[in-house]
Amino acid sequence: MKKFLVKPETKVKLSKYDPNDKGDFKGGKEEGLAKLEKLNGKLESLQELLYAEHKHKVLIVLQAMDAGGKDGTIRRVFDSVNPAGVRVAAFKAPTAEELDHDYLWRIHKQVPGKGEMVIFNRSHYEDVLVVRVHNYVQPEVWKQRFDQINEFERALAENGTTILKFYLHIDMDEQKERLQARLDDPTKRWKFRLGDLEERKLWPQYMEAFEDVLSKTSTEYAPWYVIPANRKWFRDLAISTILVDTLEGLKMNYPESEENLDGVMIE
Ligand code: AMP
Ligand code: MG
Repeated sequence: MKKFLVKPETKVKLSKYDPNDKGDFKGGKEEGLAKLEKLNGKLESLQELLYAEHKHKVLIVLQAMDAGGKDGTIRRVFDSVNPAGVRVAAFKAPTAEELDHDYLWRIHKQVPGKGEMVIFNRSHYEDVLVVRVHNYVQPEVWKQRFDQINEFERALAENGTTILKFYLHIDMDEQKERLQARLDDPTKRWKFRLGDLEERKLWPQYMEAFEDVLSKTSTEYAPWYVIPANRKWFRDLAISTILVDTLEGLKMNYPESEENLDGVMIE
């Protein structure tokens, strides 16, 4: 899965990334789902340990085009974790109060505390994506934000936060199918907004904006991964693998008990 990591300072061209790629994984959907189930079990134990140790903070950022699979990823990758230690923060168009503050204000309020894992469904990156594409602010303003974001994330990392950022990479055909499916399925239609069609027309502008994000804000302390996401099972498998590897790398331990409790019997 290392293949999907964006090395710092590389110029990313998304047309070179195949949204159907499976990396080194040789199997098909069935094998992929079986492996995902095992990984979900591991993730469950690791998250329990994260919570018990109460030392590390874990932040996972998900960004994608509409229908890119952010919600589905959250449902499938985190389906066995303990809700006590995991939180999802979704960022919508800013409220009036949020707009009165700097764009990182609402973000900082949601970052994980010790022992916690927080998943960002959209994030501060919207402020260099949708905001840029729609000219909500002048270019001088959004251009400064890449450095600001890197500094913000550096501060989080230096204060004990492990940051992983995933761009879910689908192509326009896949988006077409998924948006159509949303329209056709009465249980999914609520997710569809007519505005999504306008956004779809801006696909090339969004790709350019994403390429800048990936090229300028993938760092040692807060790396981006471009996850091939046309196949949902592979997307989930890739993210789960990276997450489990990263958590294992933290070398976490259960806390010591207060005293030596060996031999203590409950009457
Ligand atoms: P959804 O994730 O489908 O519920 O949609 C959330 C909407 O909020 C998307 O259209 C985002 O582009 C929009 N959004 C999120 N953050 C911002 C932001 N900082 N500025 C403007 N729009 C935003
Ligand atoms: Mg939407």
